[in-house]
Amino acid sequence: MENKYSFYKMTVDEFRDWVKTIRISRTINQIQQHHTYIPNYKHFNGSNHFERQKAMKECHVQQNGWADIGQHLSIFPDGTIVTGRSFEKSPACISFQNAHALCIENVGNFDIGGDIMTKQQANAIIAVVAILCKKFGFQPSDKTIVYHHWFRLDNGVRNEGNGCNKSCPGTNFFGGNKVSNFQKEFLPLVINELDKQEYRPVIPTNCDYAMINIQALNVRTRPNVNTNISQEVAKVYFGSIIRVVDTKDNWYKISQDKDCWISAKYTKKVKRAIVTALILNVRNGASSEYESINILKQGEEVFEYEKKGNWIKIGLEDKWVNQQYLQY
Ligand SMILES: [Zn+2]
Repeated sequence: MENKYSFYKMTVDEFRDWVKTIRISRTINQIQQHHTYIPNYKHFNGSNHFERQKAMKECHVQQNGWADIGQHLSIFPDGTIVTGRSFEKSPACISFQNAHALCIENVGNFDIGGDIMTKQQANAIIAVVAILCKKFGFQPSDKTIVYHHWFRLDNGVRNEGNGCNKSCPGTNFFGGNKVSNFQKEFLPLVINELDKQEYRPVIPTNCDYAMINIQALNVRTRPNVNTNISQEVAKVYFGSIIRVVDTKDNWYKISQDKDCWISAKYTKKVKRAIVTALILNVRNGASSEYESINILKQGEEVFEYEKKGNWIKIGLEDKWVNQQYLQY
């Protein structure tokens, strides 16, 4: 594994091994698929992975004014994977949809008439998605794996690509960028890859969740402020949802098998719930008189940040749903 400009460059096999070793405290329940459009195949010369990744970071930081490169991973035409933003931080990739997501940028222009995706890149994309599904313990579906195209550009509302959308990850991305193309072309490849990996989904048990309520919080090796910073995960960040596996003296243990503790003082307990209605309106206030700003579908996962009567706030922003359509 090579390292340059603070990015790591890996083959699929190296990525599989690397993912096993990393600890991610932030709860991740969605993988986003994008294409870079520019740079595309004509900007890649077979060996300039780091330079292209650095140029994307500079564009995101200098032109977009972001804190870092937007994506967590870039997948190149030769099937090589390059890391970007820290997995502990939410991506800057789909407006209002980034909180619990992991963002993959596939290098190329996969609109019809653009680049023809190489076999190596296609195989790497499928493998990376399968490896991440296994890592985070979720079943692949159009809720856990999403295309940028399915969300409105201006407000992030999911409209399946029916007006005001980017074509990303491309009108020719694995047969097309629609949900139906995903179901028919992309999803079966991911499921097939998972079978090869002896996929065992980790069913989350009745555990507690907490939101980080301070800009950055140190992760320590013992439930005590005078102990070392963890080598596994040094810090967790504001807004991240953390799984609590144990508690002691107002400290939370946040890893099943490693000594990673955070002070509970800087967190807020949140509850996890699943949407039971076929379609559930998300409103910008705690009553049905408020405007519907988004919809959720049956089976989607939400976190309860706050409660007002029968209404549940499901994010840092004003996003409310009726509790009767949730199951805890
Ligand atoms: Zn995109």
